[in-house]
Amino acid sequence: MRQKRAKAYKRVMALYVSTFGFRLPYQVLLSDGFLLESAKQKDIDTLAVVRKVLGLSGNDTRDTKFMITQCCMEALYKLGKEYQHVVNLAKTAERRKCNHREAIDPTQCIKEVVGETNKHRYVLCTASQKFLGSMSRVPGLPIVHYNSTGVLVLSPPSQATVRAKLAQEEEKRKAGAELLDGVVDGDNVKGAPAASTTAEAAATRSRKQGPKAPNPLSMKKKKRKVEVEEQAEGEKEGDQGENGGEDDGGRRKKKRKRGRGKGAVAEAISEIRAEGEEKRLKALEERAARDAPAGGDSDDDSD
Ligand SMILES: [Zn+2]
Repeated sequence: MRQKRAKAYKRVMALYVSTFGFRLPYQVLLSDGFLLESAKQKDIDTLAVVRKVLGLSGNDTRDTKFMITQCCMEALYKLGKEYQHVVNLAKTAERRKCNHREAIDPTQCIKEVVGETNKHRYVLCTASQKFLGSMSRVPGLPIVHYNSTGVLVLSPPSQATVRAKLAQEEEKRKAGAELLDGVVDGDNVKGAPAASTTAEAAATRSRKQGPKAPNPLSMKKKKRKVEVEEQAEGEKEGDQGENGGEDDGGRRKKKRKRGRGKGAVAEAISEIRAEGEEKRLKALEERAARDAPAGGDSDDDSD
């Protein structure tokens, strides 16, 4: 066999392996007609050639399991003593039980054994061009046959086989796309929420520890939760400021400014807070104005 052809056969068998799950040993179904044809070529070890056609070049013949159905065997027996040598060759193959109590037409038997999808992953050896044509409708069925010059060849993958391969690839592509749809970049970073929890705990601890711990306000702002805490602290300070007097007004404003730029929701919240504080400030000013008579005297004094 030419090297080029051998390589082509290996590629074709690789397709059956990758797409249709073929594994060694290959199960090779021999038809009665194929054995009769091979018997005509007396000097050739047909079964050895079949192995080569399937891309198997090693010396260990256990990579191939030759089989023959009961009905094909019956058909050979019927030919009589004249074909005993063919029967003998057939007997070297394993008998494939087809459960046809009465032997049926051998090609019909093979059709049933292979089935619609060749789920048992057989390789078919046939000498009939007509049978080859009808079996080409089964996807994933490698067929070994004699070409017009009587040379044993492996059929190129049939249309049904190529279609099944493309369909499988499309299925894989779809599955891949679906998988991609479910993926959000960075969503799988499990450490992120845990880290912020740790930061929160650290902040709590630092407050309890007092002056020894670093000032949380001077810490780098990394986690959102820390920022929220800062805001809460600012609010607390603001409350204290209300009790303490107007001097804290400036500080409060500063805090508000810092709150900006944290996203629309955070901004809205700080604005609402600011509004409330402004109202409180106005109330304070109004109260101060009401108390003016006493304060007015002091103003006069300062002049
Ligand atoms: Zn049968």
